[in-house]
Amino acid sequence: MNIQDYIRDVQDFPTEGILFKDITPLLNNSEARKLMLEKLYNKCKNLKIDKVVGIESRGFFFGMALADQLNAGFVPLRKKGKLPYSTVSQKYGLEYGEDELEMHTDAIQQGDNVLLHDDVLATGGTAKAACDLIQSKGGKIVQCNFIMKLDFLKGEEKLVPHHIEAVLNY
Ligand code: 5GP
Repeated sequence: MNIQDYIRDVQDFPTEGILFKDITPLLNNSEARKLMLEKLYNKCKNLKIDKVVGIESRGFFFGMALADQLNAGFVPLRKKGKLPYSTVSQKYGLEYGEDELEMHTDAIQQGDNVLLHDDVLATGGTAKAACDLIQSKGGKIVQCNFIMKLDFLKGEEKLVPHHIEAVLNY
């Protein structure tokens, strides 16, 4: 099975000129989905992880599954206004627009070893904001883990000095 066959290119989404990598075919095939989870897990299975942080919304799918396998807690980072309890927040620039991420104030404890997970690393603005939130609460980012990274957007540079892993590179 070639797992790349389950990533669909959608031209001009969400705006003109953007080639969007759609992971829904991957989610919709149990064999491909299990293979992706295995590949993601292989990249972090030897790490001691207290919390997996997943970024809304596509970081929730495999983020939660990884937390299960790693016997770690799961922390959802959400867009502004979605989390019910007290939050810390961070604004960031997107490949297309601006947004704000929030995390519950009690989600990360000082010294927690954290795995950050999202589906795509593009310009890196989202993951950088997530790293800032985690570190503001004293979390130690052990790995930033993605289904894929879009190398031409150089997101990795924004995440220095964190360790980045991705199953697929474009
Ligand atoms: P960045 O902040 O790195 O530019 O964008 C990454 C964020 O936007 C991630 O949360 C990701 O879900 C979303 N994103 C940006 N481009 C794509 C894409 O081509 N496909 C998918 N599935 N998500 C994208």
